[in-house]
Amino acid sequence: MTTRNSPLPQLGQWQSLEELTDLQDKFLPEALARAARSPFYASRFGHGPPPADRSDLAALPCTSKQELRDNYPFGLLAVAKEELATYHESSGTAGQPTPSYYTAGDWTDLAERYARKWIGISASDTFLVRTPYALMITGHLAHAAARLHGATVIPGDNRSLAMPYSRVVRILHDLGVTLTWSMPTETLLWAAAARARGLDPGTDFPALRALFVGGEPLSEARRQRISRLWNVPVVQEYGSTETGSLAGECPNGRMHLWADRMLFEVRDPDTGRMSAEGSGNLVVTPLFHAAMPLVRYDLGDYVEVGYSDCACGWLLPTVRVLGRAASVYPVGTGQVTQHQIEELVFGLDQRFGVLFWRARAEPQRLLIQIEVAGTHAAAATAALIAAVRSSAGLECEIDAVPPGTLVPETVLTGVHDVVKPRSLFGPEEDWDKALLYY
Ligand code: AMP
Ligand code: MG
Ligand code: ZN
Repeated sequence: MTTRNSPLPQLGQWQSLEELTDLQDKFLPEALARAARSPFYASRFGHGPPPADRSDLAALPCTSKQELRDNYPFGLLAVAKEELATYHESSGTAGQPTPSYYTAGDWTDLAERYARKWIGISASDTFLVRTPYALMITGHLAHAAARLHGATVIPGDNRSLAMPYSRVVRILHDLGVTLTWSMPTETLLWAAAARARGLDPGTDFPALRALFVGGEPLSEARRQRISRLWNVPVVQEYGSTETGSLAGECPNGRMHLWADRMLFEVRDPDTGRMSAEGSGNLVVTPLFHAAMPLVRYDLGDYVEVGYSDCACGWLLPTVRVLGRAASVYPVGTGQVTQHQIEELVFGLDQRFGVLFWRARAEPQRLLIQIEVAGTHAAAATAALIAAVRSSAGLECEIDAVPPGTLVPETVLTGVHDVVKPRSLFGPEEDWDKALLYY
């Protein structure tokens, strides 16, 4: 899993958490000096010698996502513009863009971090990238990591009209795709699309070795369901456009933070107190970012960081992504989270075949819609009501709807023409396709 000739730290290079700390201390002064070259941090650090070590770092305030937006586009640029390799914006509200940019050197760090998959990526892999390429980093990240290890990349995107679900299924099947990268939800849609084509996801895709997923929260129950559906391991990843991969999964199924490449802290959102572990907002100081150095960047993700032993031997802290504070919804005198409902829906008996659901937390009731075949509707409804009652202490209403209601069959089977613009048409042709040709 190590990359030859890389100047950066590699897994296995430290033998204890003390050595990991030494490694961070070795690279931190340089990271802070780089940050001081950006207008934003130059003004934040003020006059006098720039911060140089961990105790200087402890005196600095966190950097917020809002500050990245306020300094759009290049307020955090710490190198000459000529050195930039790519520019990105992260997902989220359309109003204010959150920019991030990287040099070619930054890309080595980014690709290597993403490529740390316990299952390995090699030249014999065919790797379907099924996350956005437009503006965000995610597609490019997986693409670069797969290329780094010699895999054949299929740039599939997931926001392109050229790649409807029917085409994903064809490619997964006909090309013998071995690895995929997508949000977890995508893999459920592929499974439904495969079945719509008469294929069984568990047996008709024998080349598939693993599904790499990330970008949205994933409960253990949903992960297990996806894994059983496709009959391969589901390997999770946690990252963002501003940072690249922050953590990845070890063979024991735990997510570890890449603490040899970035320094991690946890911020108590109520008191602002910073600690090395525990629950709170994840705060990151990348050690090797040159184009857009970040110092104590608060991702706004509520996480739990721990340093307990893991049999994988990676000697890296573990992280659980608990979600954002805004994702707790009140119902009556109680409250629910998406994670909680997801656990219960995917904890239903697999035979009920429930893959798609949505819920609405109203002031006095929780309404959950599930797609389920008529034969299982009554049993699934009763089981889910009981599960919500015992786990959340809430009464809920279940609306069992037929398959195709939440995810229409046409979405799973439809194909689009992928055409180029043209201006001359015959009398029978649809000339409305002249300029708006997609
Ligand atoms: P973006 O800003 O569009 O790059 O998306 C990054 C955000 O997606 C993170 O800050 C998290 O909130 C979320 N995210 C990414 N991976 C995971 C994951 N494995 N589990 C939960 N949330 C995730
Ligand atoms: Mg983001
Ligand atoms: Zn581990």
